[in-house]
Amino acid sequence: MGVEAIVVHEDLDAGQGVVAGGHGRRAFAAVLPDPRRIRMNFEPTQERSLIRSTAEEVAAEFGPEHWREKEREGEFSEAFWNELADAGFHGLLVPEAYGGAGMGMAEMGLAMETLCAEGCGMAGTWYLVLTAGMAAVGIREHGTDEQRDRYLPAIADGEVNFSIGITEPEAGTNTLAVATTARRDGDEYVLDGQKAWITFADRADAMILVARTTPLEAVDRPTDGISLCIVEMDRPGIDVSPIPKHGINYSKSCEVFVDGVRIPEENLLGEEDGGWWALVSTLNPERIAFAAAATGIGTLAADTAIEYANDREVFGAPIGTHQAVSFPITRAYARMEAARLMREKAAWLYDRGEACGYETNVAKATAVEAGIEAVKQSMQAFGGWGYAEEYDVERWWREINLTRLAPVSQQMAYNHVARELGFPKSY
Ligand SMILES: Cc1cc2nc3c(=O)[nH]c(=O)nc-3n(C[C@H](O)[C@H](O)[C@H](O)COP(=O)(O)OP(=O)(O)OC[C@H]3O[C@@H](n4cnc5c(N)ncnc54)[C@H](O)[C@@H]3O)c2cc1C
Repeated sequence: MGVEAIVVHEDLDAGQGVVAGGHGRRAFAAVLPDPRRIRMNFEPTQERSLIRSTAEEVAAEFGPEHWREKEREGEFSEAFWNELADAGFHGLLVPEAYGGAGMGMAEMGLAMETLCAEGCGMAGTWYLVLTAGMAAVGIREHGTDEQRDRYLPAIADGEVNFSIGITEPEAGTNTLAVATTARRDGDEYVLDGQKAWITFADRADAMILVARTTPLEAVDRPTDGISLCIVEMDRPGIDVSPIPKHGINYSKSCEVFVDGVRIPEENLLGEEDGGWWALVSTLNPERIAFAAAATGIGTLAADTAIEYANDREVFGAPIGTHQAVSFPITRAYARMEAARLMREKAAWLYDRGEACGYETNVAKATAVEAGIEAVKQSMQAFGGWGYAEEYDVERWWREINLTRLAPVSQQMAYNHVARELGFPKSY
């Protein structure tokens, strides 16, 4: 029985909760083992060893002290951005023909997780996911030759920074409710609307903006009528203002108003009215990236707490001798190990061009739960000092809390999984 035979459904018509179809749990039980499914290899390849050691070296230069300072100052780390480029991380997903490494999400996930776990916290994913992850994938998969030539080498070199403009004040979880419009005017499009929470919009060179080219009322399926526009941020009519927020203050997430912004028609990414498909191709990589962030930050906090628990003596013994301190962290660590395996599987499927929505959402949801628990219990081990800026765990707590809200909320990740298990659609 072939792979096609185990696709449960390919229904893509609903908001961020649904990404490229997938394989239901029941379906796995229904097929003979397909060699492509069961041959996951855990031997460390040369590439993976190199990625891990390079990420460790970079993280050693940009450890917790660096991020404590950047967070306090609310300052973007240009040095880290440039170092990621020099080390080759911006180009991991860019094909070799365009100056990248031509690798996949398995390698990108490993790079992000290692950067996070070795001291960078959320920055290890944050500085890579939008440009080196989503923009690189979208342009690689759906760009014209001209767009690939213009952007892919520049992404690999760290010379261009993209933001991704999906969310609006009235369209968060339900992406299909976007109200920003792109109206054709001769050989141009005119953009009008408002975006919210757009990370890097204050410094990005360009934004991939999701707009409606045909109103919702005029399309057969809600996924129709959506287009992706590459908008250079220096075009007239764009107004950006950062939203004060809970954490990750070493980058801004912004409200963006677009008022009569004109772009040439060649700035469309993918097909007019068919941009939904280009967009969903970037959402699984984004979720895999956030799964990597969650286990990465969780591991960083847990490792730091384990060291502290060996040193800190209360009642004449290291606090780590108490199982009430060690077990909650150990349990979260074990859950992170399992979630990491699921992320590897999701990435493995994605890199083979196979449906991976089920695995990706399971990986995202479980990695976030395990990572959050790891940081929470690590903070507990620090006692009152867990509340002090100088021990960093309070910052990791603020950082990891984002992963349950974005890029897809835990509820919507579970909505996807629930549907694949056979529950009726609830949204
Ligand atoms: C720091 C930060 C950075 C961000 N960066 C970007 C970015 O760069 N680009 C971008 O486009 N967006 C970005 N976002 C936006 C983010 O993706 C959205 O906040 C997210 O999609 C949720 O949208 P919302 O806030 O409007 O929540 P809402 O859609 O209002 O949902 C509110 C709550 O209701 C729940 N809910 C809604 N419907 C259902 C349902 N059917 N079943 C169960 N629960 C449901 C949701 O899960 C959520 O918990 C960022 C957000 C933050 C906080």
